[in-house]
Amino acid sequence: MLTVKEVYEVVNGFAPFASQESWDNSGLLVGSMTQPADRILTTLDISEEVIAQAVQQQVQLIVAHHPVIFSPLKALPQNSPVYQLAAHGIAAICVHTPLDMSPVGLNAYAHGLLAEPLALENAQSVLEPSWTDGRGFGWIDTSTRTWTPQALAQVLEKTFGTVRYSAKETPIRKIAYCSGSAASMLELAVAKGCDALITGDIKHDRWYAAEFENIALFDCGHYGTERFAAEILAQRLRDAFPAAQVTANAGDDPAKIFIGDEKA
Ligand SMILES: [Zn+2]
Repeated sequence: MLTVKEVYEVVNGFAPFASQESWDNSGLLVGSMTQPADRILTTLDISEEVIAQAVQQQVQLIVAHHPVIFSPLKALPQNSPVYQLAAHGIAAICVHTPLDMSPVGLNAYAHGLLAEPLALENAQSVLEPSWTDGRGFGWIDTSTRTWTPQALAQVLEKTFGTVRYSAKETPIRKIAYCSGSAASMLELAVAKGCDALITGDIKHDRWYAAEFENIALFDCGHYGTERFAAEILAQRLRDAFPAAQVTANAGDDPAKIFIGDEKA
């Protein structure tokens, strides 16, 4: 029998929980280390749909990117995901910032996706170093060619499924990238000489800040840039535990974009 502890240790190997940010809450958040974990589901968020699938497939452990408990809980209503996990005896490991920063994590994965279509030099450095060994959030790399904002947006739309952007008509070569929600790193990207920052979840005021800072800004969505977490985690766990049943389900983007005038 595979236990939660054995899975936790494998995750800790490629995304050390000790590397998490002080504001983060990653780790084993629901359940105990001794629980069985022969049936595992990996995901981006522990959504209603993911819990329903876990219950239906008798999953014993969910390994998710985003923490199912982030702010301290003051109550535990029946419709909360934590209540539902506990009610069904399902454990939850949430990886979050350690997976953002891992050399095999989300940002590294995105670099792999973009390296060829953006003709990157593969001479990347960390955008915001964070941990003792130099790992941190995002990366900076330079393209061997120059890009118009429109041409860059086209590649990003193909890779992430969605893109909004703001840019002056200046050529782009040095590119900063950080998955999730990292428009707060705009000034850092400027200080490091980047022509563009690609991230997700960009708030209104950041678009204006980008104009003043004269940097192109691309929003490929929080879901768009991080949905790969489900497959990254599943692949690692399948390699470590070939006998385990590991299912990946990144779910759907919970926010729909209305694109037509379909009749009701
Ligand atoms: Zn995120």
